[in-house]
Amino acid sequence: MEWYWWVLIIFWTGGFGWAVDNARTALRNRHTRKLELIEAARQERLALESANQPPEPVCGCTHHLAKHDKQGKCHERVEVPTAWDETKKPVRFESGQCNCQQYVGPEPLSQVYAPDLTDLA
Ligand SMILES: [Zn+2]
Ligand SMILES: [Zn+2]
Repeated sequence: MEWYWWVLIIFWTGGFGWAVDNARTALRNRHTRKLELIEAARQERLALESANQPPEPVCGCTHHLAKHDKQGKCHERVEVPTAWDETKKPVRFESGQCNCQQYVGPEPLSQVYAPDLTDLA
């Protein structure tokens, strides 16, 4: 029997399927890697875009500062829950006004400032 018969027999008895499987896996891996590259490039672009934008003047109540009047009262409409189910999940909402007062008091940091004690010696 010639040697190539053995090669053919190995292919017929499953060796061929193994080779095809390997090729398929390699192709799929390459495809996944390409998708990952595209995703990474997209994330990078998004990060660049957000870095170039000035920070939005947004209040702690998540509403734009333009929605607040001179006294700091927020005039944005919000959904106020009026009914809850047994798991305390709101099931019904009513239109209401945001009760934010836009606190503009002293910075809390200045209250905990302590003078340097090393100068006392
Ligand atoms: Zn606010
Ligand atoms: Zn608000």
